[in-house]
Amino acid sequence: MEPIIKVDQLVKKYNGFTAVNGISFSVMPGEIFGLLGPNGAGKSTTLEIIETLRKKTAGKVWVKGFDLDKNPQAIKKIIGVQLQSSGYYPGLNLTELLHMFNGLYNKQRDPMELLGLVNLQEKAKSKFKELSGGQQQRFSLATTLINDPEIIFLDEPTTGLDPQARRNLWALIRQIRQQGVTIILTTHYMDEAEQLADRVAIIDEGNIIAIDTPHALIDQLVAGGFERTMEMKKANLEDVFIQLTGKALRED
Ligand code: ADP
Repeated sequence: MEPIIKVDQLVKKYNGFTAVNGISFSVMPGEIFGLLGPNGAGKSTTLEIIETLRKKTAGKVWVKGFDLDKNPQAIKKIIGVQLQSSGYYPGLNLTELLHMFNGLYNKQRDPMELLGLVNLQEKAKSKFKELSGGQQQRFSLATTLINDPEIIFLDEPTTGLDPQARRNLWALIRQIRQQGVTIILTTHYMDEAEQLADRVAIIDEGNIIAIDTPHALIDQLVAGGFERTMEMKKANLEDVFIQLTGKALRED
């Protein structure tokens, strides 16, 4: 199988500062691929270059065989991208916003169907700013699906969410992948990557320092003689929290 995304020796410099330092990786169709790394590692820059939103300094990128340098328009048509929240006009409710996005993409997706995909029908007449953090992220996820994309890009989709809202979003991301959509996401939550991603690339200071399945990376560490300093219990505090407050979808 051919990769759906191929990045070769990608470099991005901002005024001489090297944010991305010649990274190469491939993503296979149907994968959930995670870009992990601390703040400032170069994750968003990499994502935005592939999304055609930012110019690269050097290197090559292909998306579904389309060369980013020659055919960015073809790439735009098959990808779904999350907007910054400032992109959601404050005066419009969710239905109106989805109508507006339909117009941008030249599509006719039914807003209620899109809201249904992310369990937000009840908020159809609400404004974006009136939603909770989890609901805002779910709405943002819905907007990536308007143009029936083959690949969606999620930049820190669960940052700032509580444990239930994060789990709800993970479930939604898995559902979207089951429809055959390839997902590339950034996160600095290692548990999120371990739960969701088939493979991860760990980026630090613009370099990929490891790339593999979460299991393989953990096994390699353990094979090297690593031992946790503290004995692990069978549950953690988050498990306690979830158990006490309930897992079910609720006002998140
Ligand atoms: P991450 O998403 O991993 O947190 P970014 O890709 O946002 O990292 O940023 C990588 C580095 O590039 C950071 O040091 C950041 O300050 C710098 N950077 C990002 N965008 C710009 C820009 N527009 N101009 C100058 N430097 C930038």
